[in-house]
Amino acid sequence: MNIEGILKYQKLDGELYKVEQKISNSPYKKKANELSAVAKKSQSKSTELEAEAEKLLAEINDLKSKFSMNKAKLDEMLKNDTSKLSAEDIEKLSNVKGKIVSNLNILEKLLQKAAENINQILAEFNRTIKTFNDAKAQYAVCKQKIDEENQQLSPERERLTKELKALEKGVDGELLAEYKKKRQDNIFPVIVPLENGSFCGYCRIELPKVATSRIKEKGVITCEHCKRFIYQK
Ligand SMILES: [Zn+2]
Repeated sequence: MNIEGILKYQKLDGELYKVEQKISNSPYKKKANELSAVAKKSQSKSTELEAEAEKLLAEINDLKSKFSMNKAKLDEMLKNDTSKLSAEDIEKLSNVKGKIVSNLNILEKLLQKAAENINQILAEFNRTIKTFNDAKAQYAVCKQKIDEENQQLSPERERLTKELKALEKGVDGELLAEYKKKRQDNIFPVIVPLENGSFCGYCRIELPKVATSRIKEKGVITCEHCKRFIYQK
C-alpha cells in the first residue's frame, strides 16, 4: 500500500484541521453556547412561573367566592328581625354570626397572602424575562462575531479543501474513505506510525503481536484503543 500518499494528504489536512479548530474553539462560540443555555433555562423558568401564577389565581378566585358567600350569609342574617326570637335562638344565631365573621377574617388573611405571593411571582417573572432578553441580545452579538470569523477563515478553508481534493487521487480509495469517516468523528491525526515495534504512535498502547504482524501484510491496522490507523515507518 502507498502510505506516502495518505501521509502527504494528512499533512495538508492538518492545516485544515487547525483552521477548523480555530473556528470551533472561538471564545465567541463558547460564549454563544453559554448564552443559549441561559436563554433556554429562563424560558422554562418563565413557563414554570406562568403555571404557578395560574394556579394561584385560581386559588384567589376560590377564596374570593368563599368570601362573598360568607359575606352574603352575614348580610342576610343582619337583616333578620330578632325581636321575636327566643333567648336560646338569639344565642344560636350569635354563635353562627361569630363563626362567619371569623371565617371572613381567615379568608381575608389568606387573600392577602395570596396577593403577596402573586406579586412575588410577577416580579420573578419580569426578572426572568429580562435575563432571557439580555441573553438573546448578547447571543446575537456573538453570532455576528462568529460569522465574521467564519468569513475571515473561509478563503483559507476553501483553498485547503481544493488542494486536498487534488491529493485524493494519490491515496487508496478505501483507505481515504475510512480516513474521512474518522476525521468526521473529530479524530486527528488519523494515521500514526508504529512506535518501538509494538506501540500505537498516538495513545502509546501496546499492540498485540498478531496485530503488528498484520501491518506488513495490510499496510495499516487500526488501534483498538484510539481508533487511529497505524503504519510502519
Ligand atoms: Zn492508539
